[in-house]
Amino acid sequence: MKATLIIENIDSLITIRGENKARAGLEQRENGLINNGIIAVKDDKIIYVGEGSLPDNIEVGENTIILNGEGKTVTPGLIDSHTHLVHGGSREHELSMKLKGKDYLEILAAGGGIHSTAKATSNASFDELYKKAEKSLNTMLSFGVTTVEAKSGYGIGDFDTELKQIEVANKLNQNKQVDIVSTFMGAHAVPEKYKNNSDLFVDKLINEMIPYIAEKKLAKFNDVFCEEGVFTVEQSRKILKAGKAHGLIPKVHADEIVSLGGAELAAEVECISAEHLIGASDQGIKAMAQKGVIAVLLPGTSFNLQKGTVARARKMIEENVPVAISTDYNPGSCPSENIQLMMTLASLSLKLVPEEVIVGVTINAAAALGLENQIGSLEVGKKADIAIFDVPNLDYMIYHFGINHTDKVIKNGQLVYEKNQ
Ligand SMILES: [Zn+2]
Repeated sequence: MKATLIIENIDSLITIRGENKARAGLEQRENGLINNGIIAVKDDKIIYVGEGSLPDNIEVGENTIILNGEGKTVTPGLIDSHTHLVHGGSREHELSMKLKGKDYLEILAAGGGIHSTAKATSNASFDELYKKAEKSLNTMLSFGVTTVEAKSGYGIGDFDTELKQIEVANKLNQNKQVDIVSTFMGAHAVPEKYKNNSDLFVDKLINEMIPYIAEKKLAKFNDVFCEEGVFTVEQSRKILKAGKAHGLIPKVHADEIVSLGGAELAAEVECISAEHLIGASDQGIKAMAQKGVIAVLLPGTSFNLQKGTVARARKMIEENVPVAISTDYNPGSCPSENIQLMMTLASLSLKLVPEEVIVGVTINAAAALGLENQIGSLEVGKKADIAIFDVPNLDYMIYHFGINHTDKVIKNGQLVYEKNQ
């Protein structure tokens, strides 16, 4: 078999090899490190992963691209499993409000926050949204990300805006190297006009929007912001179950600010993942473990909100909940596409060891998107999505923070990003 691309002499080849499923507990530390590693690719698939040199049955031809991994760390392409990629506008003016002590729910109650993003998203043309999201996507790729989840949710009752967001994400998925997986999040906030009767809006979601999204196959997942002042546990349950009945896999923004029982709900509805979970109860964490719900933790959001509380990641790992780490990239609570920074925050603020962190942005993130059989580890037969970092080992990558360590990114076997030398 002739290889099309080889990376040899890799100082730290982090394969994440093993079963194609989310890792929990002690298994979350198993990152399959190979020193002096070598990896071979044919077209868009991995054909060999090992130590030292290639076996005889893998040929190197004239056109084989050979990359030197000396001094480098190579990982599966990173996966950002929770983003609000497509949106209009930005909210830098909220920084000074925040510094004066106003919190997220107060800014929201004052008509700011998400409502200003909704307005900007609604006012933006398809092309404007596309260009803005494309720029963010390019930034994500430069940080080593090869697959991104993107949520709608800035229509807030305006279904055309929801559709516009999803269509932008789906067009980017077709046109760009990075894969995008779409999530419908029509239940991101209660529209102003339904403020006093949010059940009516829930009915609209269930009877009109969700069936349409599912029928047109516009999204894979259905997500709800289950939170005080947003959607109650009961409303969230209804929305998630309705999505499920139409074939949309449930995800839930749970217990982000107030401990409402969102983690318990995620387990009850058998969500593929529950997100944020800062206020998740002991019981909720146990229930998630039982049902194999993945905790998608977003330490950049906690850092940016500066409330002094973070998700209890150690508790989750102790209880055998698989943990994924993501940016939550959005214009309000986490305006950053830098997944490498989130990896450092996962380590410093959530107290995850680097081995747990890398699993959280590879196989566990893949599993949170239902893609664990295709991506998230470097093994024969899997997609050749590979990130090369200019660091000798994983610890160094997380320790030397706030900068971009990416050297090269390979997507579907093609070199798609290279650092300017
Ligand atoms: Zn979110």
